Amino acid sequence: MKIQAAVATAPKTDLDIRELTLDAPRADEVTVRMVASGVCHTDAIVRDQWYPTPLPAVLGHEGSGVVEAIGSDVVDFKVGDKVVLAPASCGVCENCISGHPQYCVDFYDLNFGGSRTDGSKMFDDNGTAISSNFFGQSSFASMTNVKARNAVKVADDAPLELLGPLGCGIMTGSGAVINVLQPSPGESVAVFGTGAVGLAGMLGAVASGATTIIMVDIVPSRLEFAKELGATHVVNSKEVDAVEAIREITGGKGVNYALDTTGVPAVFSQMTKALATLGHGVLVGAAKLGTEAAFDIGTLLTSGIQISMVVEGDAVPREFIPKLISLHEKGLFPFDKLVKTYAFTDINQAFADSESGVTIKPVVLF
Ligand code: NAD
Ligand code: ZN
Repeated sequence: MKIQAAVATAPKTDLDIRELTLDAPRADEVTVRMVASGVCHTDAIVRDQWYPTPLPAVLGHEGSGVVEAIGSDVVDFKVGDKVVLAPASCGVCENCISGHPQYCVDFYDLNFGGSRTDGSKMFDDNGTAISSNFFGQSSFASMTNVKARNAVKVADDAPLELLGPLGCGIMTGSGAVINVLQPSPGESVAVFGTGAVGLAGMLGAVASGATTIIMVDIVPSRLEFAKELGATHVVNSKEVDAVEAIREITGGKGVNYALDTTGVPAVFSQMTKALATLGHGVLVGAAKLGTEAAFDIGTLLTSGIQISMVVEGDAVPREFIPKLISLHEKGLFPFDKLVKTYAFTDINQAFADSESGVTIKPVVLF
């Protein structure tokens, strides 16, 4: 079948919109007609080959759409179902069956390998195979095949043009807070970085009832926006020492919970120092493979703190995405305020606006 897709061809190079051929769905796959796809910072770093998904590739991993065809073994979907796409996981390894599919033993190959597990690629450009299966979906395509397992059915009246980012950026930030940090009402949370992931984490902290929510960034406009959305305090770490500022706001104690969405080693170190005794900090920001960060094991030993590395909010998508939709419907998780939509053909503008910070969460519409 002929489809339209944005192809990543080389680092730091605009995606190329081309007509490709999509193969037929396998027995365990569904073909999804894409309605929308979010653009995530991770698309840009894979285009730039921080992670070596083979190029040329169709990237995109925040897809939402409608089931157009189903493979012969698929029993849980029918043509016309509305779906949000989530990262791929095998479903049978010890981590998947213990409820942690984001730590699937095959997570890297399934999501970054560039093909199905049998080596086949779904997209063909006049005889040249184009890498597919990015995060199990390659959603920068008008039509794609995904394993039924990584599609999440949503209601027939669900606003598909908004929901794609629930499959990555929004799930990552909010899941890190709601699933991993689990603040109780009245506790304190600091979030480093006020991009889509950080603000989703902040909204998760608001929904959890945290009463001190400190947002740290170096861009004043983003901090102002964070305040409008529920931050109780903001810290510009270009102007002041973030650790000192957080200690001052918390009466010298530090915060119960913290989230680093920057992946900047110096910021990670700040996060470890901003935690209260028995606090818990999470890293979700991506850094190049091999990046190390300083960690004062001498001072911190007696602090009782925990540090976790978290992928995709440690979420079980079929459980967590409906929860986020429900919170959103009740007005308790207004993630739509982060979204700006673009025509699919303007996808390179969406990448540029994400990189410059003009747009927090771009979503391209097909
Ligand atoms: P973004 O670029 O929109 O936001 C990053 C924010 O960090 C920006 O507001 C920026 O101003 C701020 N920042 C940068 N350097 C800083 C510094 N030194 N001090 C304070 N603030 C600083 O990106 P995003 O979409 O929010 O994604 C955040 C990160 O999460 C990316 O690295 C992305 O690849 C990663 N990510 C990880 C997962 C995961 O599963 N762990 C999933 C999705 C995204
Ligand atoms: Zn992502």
